[in-house]
Amino acid sequence: MIGLDRNEQIRLAALARAEELRRQWDDRVPAREIERGFDFGGHRVRFVGPGMGIFKPRQLTDGPITVRTQLASSYDDEPLEAGAGLRYDFAPPAREYDNDGLKRLCELGRPLIYLIQVAPRAQGSEYAILAPVFVTGWDDARRTFEISFRAARSLTLAQGDAIAERPARDRVEPAYRMVELRARLYQAHFRRLVLQAYRHRCTVCELRVRPLLDAAHIVPDRDGGDASVQNGLGLCVLHHRAFDRGLLRVRPDYTVDVAPTAVPRGDDFAARTLLEFHGRHIVLPRDRALWPSAEALHRIATA
Ligand SMILES: [Zn+2]
Repeated sequence: MIGLDRNEQIRLAALARAEELRRQWDDRVPAREIERGFDFGGHRVRFVGPGMGIFKPRQLTDGPITVRTQLASSYDDEPLEAGAGLRYDFAPPAREYDNDGLKRLCELGRPLIYLIQVAPRAQGSEYAILAPVFVTGWDDARRTFEISFRAARSLTLAQGDAIAERPARDRVEPAYRMVELRARLYQAHFRRLVLQAYRHRCTVCELRVRPLLDAAHIVPDRDGGDASVQNGLGLCVLHHRAFDRGLLRVRPDYTVDVAPTAVPRGDDFAARTLLEFHGRHIVLPRDRALWPSAEALHRIATA
């Protein structure tokens, strides 16, 4: 990595690791993976410190490596404002050096990593990783930073070998990337609410292995289904796929309907994982107000 100073090299290693985590975990990176940090020159560099906020590992001298936030309880709230980038509050006055660090990164045009907590600690703590992002400005009166995606224009990004192998997404318009980000956070929010309502188990088979659980839409997005819990089901990956392909249905009376043609004769495993549940009741959320909409179930049953 000729021509890059040590700060830039560490920053690139951080971005490469962030990309790896995203590829592996999608928008549900477990906190422990982030807390592990990454390796640089045989030393461990941290991504985060205790608590939320701005973090600079001791190996960096140009500024912080991450900013971290919690997904607003309502998707419509901050930090997503129409059109603009993400807004990020200044650190409190006692940590003015963190604010100075972000301002320096803005002036240098150097990238950092935005971590959004999409599942709270009580649910195992998961993050969506947005990287690279850039500090594009700040407002001393409101004490907020403006953070955005933008085309890679800094030397750091143009030269970085970690970036060279990145797909074309970095060349996509920042406005489009904001739309994409909204969609990602929207899904993460939906997933969190649904899995919480279903107490982190498949509503059909009660599997509780978290990496294998999804929040399924009853009426799909594209058909006008909304992202409310009532239009969702907590399903394992197997039953999610079966549901989406119409092999397994949930009737409006909350019983499971498995198409007999879905199971090849003599396939014992399919019999145990699919046919076994035919006619059974699904496991419903404790809160009746969160039960799946019978109307939505009826709508797809007759689709
Ligand atoms: Zn299942």
